[in-house]
Amino acid sequence: MIGVFGGTFDPVHFGHLRPALELYESLALDELRFVPCGRPPHREPPQARAEDRLAMLRAAVRGQRGFVVDTRELERPGPSYMVDTLQSLRDQFGPGRPLLLLLGLDAFLGLETWHRWERLAELAHLVVAHRPGFVPADLLRHPGLWALVSSSQAEDSGELRDAPAGRVLFCQVTQLDISASGIRRLLAAGRDIRYLVPEAVREIIAARRIYD
Ligand code: ATP
Repeated sequence: MIGVFGGTFDPVHFGHLRPALELYESLALDELRFVPCGRPPHREPPQARAEDRLAMLRAAVRGQRGFVVDTRELERPGPSYMVDTLQSLRDQFGPGRPLLLLLGLDAFLGLETWHRWERLAELAHLVVAHRPGFVPADLLRHPGLWALVSSSQAEDSGELRDAPAGRVLFCQVTQLDISASGIRRLLAAGRDIRYLVPEAVREIIAARRIYD
């Protein structure tokens, strides 16, 4: 099973990395592909340049077995639609291989605004990690998502292994109230971000003056 974790990673932080590792282990993934977003369709452009976000991400995952940085969205022109990313992964890995799109609960709750969102669950399973500040009850405000969860919720990872796509699994992970925007705010205020990001990421930010 292949995990796909998209994000702007502006910068990558422990709120991404620890849940990612926990999902990698608990779901027994073959690999977890971190896919930095090229041009986010739904939000402001990232503050850091793509090459800096990539350098930080590579430094953050270096040495972790199974963690792969996947640059396809940076190489593709136009807006970075996840549906196109999943389609290209599906083409690469074939129709039978389970693909798991990993999302924080905040991202999942916004899924209906994504380009061709209903297609996402045809291309991959959706694995939703809990994130501080968001509760599954918020789903009640999203009838389309609610319907998807009602019809497709899986009870355990075994159900994901039995099909290439189409199930939704909610997973408990260590809840870390860390966000990239919070880190950028700290940096703008001249504060120290040590212990929120891997030391190698902190060093790259300082050496390249990425958020100055
Ligand atoms: P920003 O604060 O700039 O919006 P972010 O910290 O949310 O950024 P992104 O790169 O936009 O990070 O997020 C990518 C993915 O990581 C999303 O699916 C998001 O839900 C998830 N994620 C980010 N931070 C956490 C966290 N602390 N806990 C769980 N999931 C997270």
